[in-house]
Amino acid sequence: MVSFEMTGRDGLARLGRLYTPHGSATTPALLPVVHPGIQTIPPSEMRRLFGAEIVITNSYIIRGRVEFRERALREGLGGLIGWDGPVMTDSGTFQSYMYGEVEVSQPEILDFQRRIGSDLCTMLDIFSPPETPEPEAASRLSENSRRAGQASELFHGGGGTSQGARGKGQMAGGEEQGLVLAVQGGIFPNLRERSAADIAGLGCAVQAIGGVVPLMESYRFAELVDVVMAAKRALHPARPVHLFGAGHPMMFSLAALMGCDLLDSSSYAKYAKDGRMMFSWGTRHLDELSHLPCGCPVCASHDPEGLRSLPDPERVRKLAEHNLHASFSELRAVRQAIAESRLWELVEERCRGHPALLDALHALGGHAAQLERFAPASRTGAFFYKGPESSFRPEVLRWERLVRERYTMPDSEVMVCLEEAPKPYSRHYASLVRRIQERWDARFVVTSFFGPVPLELDGMYPVAQSLVPSRLDPESAARVSRAMKRFSHDLRSQFSLVWEGERSFEALGAVVPEGRGVVSDWEMLRVRATAELQFGRDAAAALLEGKLELVLSPNTGRVRNVLAGGEHVLSLRARDGLFTLRMPGARRLVAAVGPPRLRVVVDDDAAGFAAAGKNVFSRFVKECDPEIRPMEEVVVVDGSDRPVACGRALMVRSEMLAFTRGMAVRVREGSGGPPGEG
Ligand SMILES: [Zn+2]
Repeated sequence: MVSFEMTGRDGLARLGRLYTPHGSATTPALLPVVHPGIQTIPPSEMRRLFGAEIVITNSYIIRGRVEFRERALREGLGGLIGWDGPVMTDSGTFQSYMYGEVEVSQPEILDFQRRIGSDLCTMLDIFSPPETPEPEAASRLSENSRRAGQASELFHGGGGTSQGARGKGQMAGGEEQGLVLAVQGGIFPNLRERSAADIAGLGCAVQAIGGVVPLMESYRFAELVDVVMAAKRALHPARPVHLFGAGHPMMFSLAALMGCDLLDSSSYAKYAKDGRMMFSWGTRHLDELSHLPCGCPVCASHDPEGLRSLPDPERVRKLAEHNLHASFSELRAVRQAIAESRLWELVEERCRGHPALLDALHALGGHAAQLERFAPASRTGAFFYKGPESSFRPEVLRWERLVRERYTMPDSEVMVCLEEAPKPYSRHYASLVRRIQERWDARFVVTSFFGPVPLELDGMYPVAQSLVPSRLDPESAARVSRAMKRFSHDLRSQFSLVWEGERSFEALGAVVPEGRGVVSDWEMLRVRATAELQFGRDAAAALLEGKLELVLSPNTGRVRNVLAGGEHVLSLRARDGLFTLRMPGARRLVAAVGPPRLRVVVDDDAAGFAAAGKNVFSRFVKECDPEIRPMEEVVVVDGSDRPVACGRALMVRSEMLAFTRGMAVRVREGSGGPPGEG
C-alpha cells in the first residue's frame, strides 16, 4: 500500500515519509529521471553517490520498444533499470505534448504500468500548454477530469476511495500500487483550482501538478506560483503533491514552500549534455567557468580545463554527477530549513539568484493569507530579515492582524511612540519609561519592522526573536509607517506623541501640564496582553479571572507560571515568550468560549488516552477549530465537550480531518494523568 505521513512542517512545506511497495522515501524528494536505454548515470549508483531513494522513468518509452517492454514484463521495472527501490512511472503525456498524439490509450498504459510493477502509476493526463486560450484549457480540463475518474475507477476496480492517502491497486504480484492523478488547467488559476478539486475527490496516492514544464523552461515562475497555489487550495491535504519537471535546484525551496513534496529531474542529464552546470544560485556553461564554485567530489577533483578536455561521454557523465550533487545538496538544505522553520529565509536567498524568481517571490506575496493559515505560531530560531520581500512573510501579516484585532491599550493620558531599538525594548527603554511614568500616565509602543509593538508585548515571538537591520528598506519603512498610523488612529481618544528625545519632555509638559504619574506593573501588563494576543480577549479574561499570582524563575527573574484564583492556568515559555496551557486553564477556556474555538474534538476512545497524557493522532480527530495554526495551544475535548487534555496543535483542521496517520496534537497534560513533556 502507498501512504504518506507528515513528520515535520514549515507552513505548507512538509517533511514526510512516502511508503510504497518497494520501500519508502523521505520527502521532499527528488526523483531523478531514468531513461531505460540511455543511462548517463546508472540508477544502481544513484543511492550510493547521491542518496536518491526513489526514481522516475517513462512507461510509454518502455512500452514502445520491444526489448524494454519484454524485459520489464519479465523482470519488472527494477530489473530493467537496475534499481531496487521505489519507482514512479510517467505515462506518455509529455510525449503527446512534444510530438502530438500518443499510440496508447489510458487503460492500456495504466495496465502496463501495473504489470511492470511501478509503485506510482500515472494517468494519461491531457496537457494544456501555456498558450492555450482559456475556453480550450477549460474543455481540456474537463476531459482530463473525466480521464482521472476513469483512471481511479480502473485502478481501484470501481468505487474509488476518496479518503486518506491510499491508492489501492492490485498488481499481478499482489502488492498494492499507487495511482498518480494530475492537475491541469493551463495558466489559469481558476481552472487549476477546479481541476485540483476534481482530483481531490477521487481515490489516488499522489496528486501531480502537470503542464508546468514550459512555464519553468521560459522562467515564468510568477505564473507557476499562481497555478501551484491555486491547485493547493483545493488538493487533498493528506496526499503528497508532485510538481512535474521541477528539476533545477534553484527552485526547490520555492516548490517546497508551496507544499510540493515530490520533484523530478531530467535536467541533470539534459544540462550535462549541453555542457551546463546547475547550482542552487543559477546555471553556468562549463566554457564560461575559470573556477568551479562547488564542493562536490567532481568539482573538488577537477578544474574547468580538465573537465573540458575529457572525452564526450566522460565529460557528460561528470557534469551529470555534479548536477545531481548540486541538486541533492540543495534538497538537503531545503529539508533542514523546514526542520528549523526557516524555509522562507532560504527561499528569499534563492530567489535573489534570478529576477524571474524574484517575480515569483512577489507573486507569493499575493498569497500571503493562504500561506499564513499554515505557518507555525512559533519556531526555535530567530526571524531573519533578508530584504524588502521579508514583509511578505506570514509572521508579519499575522502580527499586524493580532495586534489590530486582539490588543487593547488601557486608557491613559498619552501614548508614546518609541523608535526601533535593541531588544528587549523594555530593557533598553527602562529608564526613559520610568522618567515619563513619574510624571504622566503613559503607554508605550515601539515602531518595529512588524509594525506597532506595545512595550508589554516585546518578549513575544516573533518580535523578540527577530534580527532586522537598523536601516530599513523604503518599502518596509512605508509599510511600518502605515501600520503605525492605523494603530494610532484606532486608539481614537488617545493623545499620541512620537518621542524625539529631551525636547519631547517639554512638548508633553506643554500639552499635559498636570499629569498623573502612574508606574505600571509591567509583568502584569505583559501577562494580560500576551494571553489576549494568543487566545483572544474573552478567553484571556476567563483564563486570568481571580486573584493573579506570578511565579518568577529564580534564575532569570522572568514570569514562569501564572496562577489565577489559586489555579495554575498558564506557564510562560522562555524561548518564545508565549504561554503554554495547563489543565485548569484549559477547563476555564472550555467553560468560557463556545465550540469550536480553541478545541480539538476526539472520539471517546482516544479521549481516554489523551486524558492519560498520550498524544492525539489525526485519525481520532472528529472536529477542530478552523482558526488553529500549527504550534498553537489547544484544548482536547471529548464528544461531550469535556476537556480531557491540553497541548500544542501540529496540524490545521483540514489536515487533522484528512490524514489517517501522524500526530495532530502533542499533549502536554491530561485531565486524568500526570503531566507529560512541555
Ligand atoms: Zn560540483
